[in-house]
Amino acid sequence: MATIGFIGLGNMGGPMLANLVKAGHTVRAFDLSEAALERAESAGAGRAGTIAEAAAGAEVVVTMLPAGQHVRGVYTGEGGVIGAAPAGALLIDCSTIDVDSARAVAAAAADAGLRMVDAPVSGGVGGAEAGTLTFMVGGPDEAVTAARPILECMGKAVVHAGGPGTGQAAKICNNMMLGIQMLSVCEAFALAKRLGLDAQKLFDVSSKASGQCWSLTTYCPVPGPVPTSPANRDYAPGFTAAMMLKDLKLAQQAAAAGEAATPLGAAAEALYALFCNQGEGDRDFSGIIRMIDGQSQG
Ligand code: NAD
Repeated sequence: MATIGFIGLGNMGGPMLANLVKAGHTVRAFDLSEAALERAESAGAGRAGTIAEAAAGAEVVVTMLPAGQHVRGVYTGEGGVIGAAPAGALLIDCSTIDVDSARAVAAAAADAGLRMVDAPVSGGVGGAEAGTLTFMVGGPDEAVTAARPILECMGKAVVHAGGPGTGQAAKICNNMMLGIQMLSVCEAFALAKRLGLDAQKLFDVSSKASGQCWSLTTYCPVPGPVPTSPANRDYAPGFTAAMMLKDLKLAQQAAAAGEAATPLGAAAEALYALFCNQGEGDRDFSGIIRMIDGQSQG
């Protein structure tokens, strides 16, 4: 069992930490939020007063932070992880961030003699609580092999995507597909309604035909066909529209830097920005059907 420093104890980090404690690891937790620290303590973690205190003496440091600037600050800022972690420590960043920040922090870690992987997740808060997350991992073979048993305490699948930053690349490519697919399903239901085609009938056909996709069969944006989808609880999240917008922005930023043509990704970003600007950022991302349809699906 390892001594682990865990930084970023929010909606995702809190339950991920709890699963590391349950697996028998000794975890020292740090967050800027007192409430998050108290939750970590009641899950069985020790409290660190600073980032450096969480990292000092740790064999492994795990971070789950909002965005690239937080990750850069926590790792490379004054009193950050890279200055405080002992030689040979393994650093695992599970946040969803831009590829450039992931590569810059990994390079700084390597320069300091530390091993690092980027390991963003899919599976949401439910997956974090149940320990069934999927990790997309970027980094050198040896570091990924060392990270695997730690990640397996928090998830059910660990995919080695390639070198540093490729975990983040996999995450933003996947979520760009998801955003575009959700919009395509929403448009189809809005059109079906105007054509006098019952939503359940469209579902019955397309869930077995070539329009089939996760946004339709697992996360159907109209109430009824998939009883567990957020559409049946007034689009309570799930995965918020604000989070989807964040990931679509990361995809567009990466596409611009890499000169990739992603016109549908750009359209999806614009539509989610409109939806969030209507005050719907905290709603599940499938709730965008209300904007596409122009009225309640009721
Ligand atoms: P969150 O806002 O609930 O938690 C982030 C935590 O980081 C907060 O507790 C905050 O206080 C802490 N923090 C910020 N700056 C800090 C610093 N300098 N030092 C210490 N702590 C600091 O966010 P979340 O929902 O847990 O998401 C975390 C990451 O996981 C994001 O990158 C997000 O995109 C990704 N993600 C989230 C979901 C989801 O469904 N929530 C799913 C997949 C991936």
